[in-house]
Amino acid sequence: MAQTVNDQAPSGASFTDDEIKEICRSAVYKFGDRSQLLKLAEECCELAQAAIKAANGLPANLVEEAADVKIMLIQLMSMLDSELIENWLQFKIGRLKTLVEG
Ligand SMILES: [Mg+2]
Repeated sequence: MAQTVNDQAPSGASFTDDEIKEICRSAVYKFGDRSQLLKLAEECCELAQAAIKAANGLPANLVEEAADVKIMLIQLMSMLDSELIENWLQFKIGRLKTLVEG
């Protein structure tokens, strides 16, 4: 793996998955879908930038940006139909399995 920076998060908090989902749902409720969709796009861009840096062997805050995107994805999941997402996930994992094993 390429060199990364900011791999160590400040210690202290330890939230359960349920607590994380609830905090993310609260963020969507407080700030609204549009705001959080724009924040998702922003965080995805930051992760993309970090991924390109890491792929080119440059220092990148890949881990921190991955955490940011995960937080925004959890928020997105709370806005969308989880059954539809799961159906797409299963379809795409099946396609990936074929590529990996083919
Ligand atoms: Mg970020």
